[in-house]
Amino acid sequence: MSLTGITAYLQPGTLEEAYGLLDDRSIAVGGGTDIIRHPHIGVTTLVDLGALPLRYLRHESGFAIGGTATLSDMLEHPGLAAHLDGVVAEMLRGVGSPLLRNAATIGGHLARGRYSDIVPLLLALDATLTLFDGTERTLSLADYYRAGLHRSRALISEIGLPPAGPDTAAAFLKFTRVAFDYALLNCAVQVRLDGRGMVEEARVAVGETPALGALVEAAAQSLEGGPLDDGRIDASAELAAAAIPAQDDQRASAEYRRALCRVGVRRALFRARGRLEGRRQ
Ligand SMILES: Cc1cc2nc3c(=O)[nH]c(=O)nc-3n(C[C@H](O)[C@H](O)[C@H](O)COP(=O)(O)OP(=O)(O)OC[C@H]3O[C@@H](n4cnc5c(N)ncnc54)[C@H](O)[C@@H]3O)c2cc1C
Repeated sequence: MSLTGITAYLQPGTLEEAYGLLDDRSIAVGGGTDIIRHPHIGVTTLVDLGALPLRYLRHESGFAIGGTATLSDMLEHPGLAAHLDGVVAEMLRGVGSPLLRNAATIGGHLARGRYSDIVPLLLALDATLTLFDGTERTLSLADYYRAGLHRSRALISEIGLPPAGPDTAAAFLKFTRVAFDYALLNCAVQVRLDGRGMVEEARVAVGETPALGALVEAAAQSLEGGPLDDGRIDASAELAAAAIPAQDDQRASAEYRRALCRVGVRRALFRARGRLEGRRQ
């Protein structure tokens, strides 16, 4: 983004004030790491969200993460780092570099709606968002993207992660060419078992297809109601590979992405199963 057209830099102290400052000529700024890389024609005003009281991370039954918490804040939070065998921290360590993570905010990341390792995992973990667009409401992250709200002016004030008991495990995998690069494809799974060891609920998300991450319902549903055995894991991975909107781009072909998806979903489910088994020993 060229800063030459910017004539005003504002730092509101409340969400109401911040939202009220947004129009066709202004843009909300979290860490600014994405804004700086893309042209925003006609924008003259930067509305810095850094003074809002949204840089927090609370661990209650689940997690409440303020919209301006940085990726480093999340990575360094002991409760979140331990959540679900450390799957969030494992994923965040592969997002850019430490310098990027010190600046990038979770709200800015989710609102930009492209190239993401974070979105597939948060979809798999059934994350919620609290938005402010004059009034406050909470909805699932999946519904936020389904409704195209990342293209609106709604401000993300909080991200919620539900609690997970010992019968729940998750895993994330990123395929990339080199460190600090965007993924060729990434995938995330979460599985919850019932008292008999059958899959009660499964969530499978695949991203960088190269579209933004999305849940793959068919792959998840095929796991539910039965044991998490090799055959059902293989079948789920096949379904995911067939269902994703794989496309060619400069990073990978659609065909290669489908092959990665098959391997990635399979490995992630095996990893989640290993985590569940590890807890029983
Ligand atoms: C070198 C580099 C490497 C990267 N590598 C990876 C990687 O490996 N994996 C990966 O997943 N990502 C990667 N990224 C993307 C990076 O994670 C994002 O740039 C970053 O998270 C965006 O957050 P931000 O706070 O800087 O957003 P900003 O640039 O501040 O904002 C982005 C968008 O969100 C809007 N916005 C900001 N805050 C809010 C809010 N609270 N509510 C609503 N809208 C808001 C802004 O108006 C803007 O439209 C990389 C980026 C760079 C520059």
